[in-house]
Amino acid sequence: MRYFIGNWKMYGIPNSINIIKKINSFVNSDKNHNKYRTLIAPPLTLLETFNRNFKNKRIQIAAQNYYHKDLFSSNTGAVSAFMLKKIGVNISILGHSDNRTEGENNQLLRSKIKIAKKNNLKIIFCIGENLKDKKKGKTKKILKKQIVKVLDKTFDPKKLIVAYEPIWSIGTGMIPSSSELVKTVTYIKQVLKNMYKGKKIPAVLYGGSVDEKNINQLKNITTIDGFLIGGASRSSKKFIDIIKNYYR
Ligand code: PEP
Repeated sequence: MRYFIGNWKMYGIPNSINIIKKINSFVNSDKNHNKYRTLIAPPLTLLETFNRNFKNKRIQIAAQNYYHKDLFSSNTGAVSAFMLKKIGVNISILGHSDNRTEGENNQLLRSKIKIAKKNNLKIIFCIGENLKDKKKGKTKKILKKQIVKVLDKTFDPKKLIVAYEPIWSIGTGMIPSSSELVKTVTYIKQVLKNMYKGKKIPAVLYGGSVDEKNINQLKNITTIDGFLIGGASRSSKKFIDIIKNYYR
């Protein structure tokens, strides 16, 4: 199974539902639709309406994050996993570098993973090294730490998708070389295999400047189970072309 997941970040207004409608009709008519899943993570303001509109449709709506305390609490501006579940949202991105740079550390992420477990929420867990660490040859060390300090074998691998997103690649137009990607994704899968001994490991996606052109190169790396797509997911044409070109 492959995944094409769009992360809209802080973009999107009620009208943007048309983008998802177009993607959903494409997926419905696509002869390859059984080979992949499509998800879009719009901003919080749109989650409830969009989720209601696309309930039981091929495309699924995901959250981008939630607070490290559950249920209800006195935290202005925060939304809990419990609240997401109450509006029918069953999956969320977690650990995106946008949020890690704003102070979302491993300890907070561990709390969020516990909360996900309690609420039966699926997680798209983002990991990735920055350019400085990459240049120092620390990529593997950083990625392993990001995984083992937050996840453990008690978190059901069926509820997890891991997205490898090198920070230097997000929104920059730069992507790792194919050989680098093969090595890194294989390494991530090895770390997950060691954690989930004997169990089927989660899908590992790549994210960072994926577009309708570089997908022609990325699709050859068959160890990648799908893509987390930022900028290009805000255009129905680009997002659809990414899927079309992947299966061409
Ligand atoms: C992202 O923010 O998760 C991302 C992958 O962004 P972009 O595709 O724009 O690099």
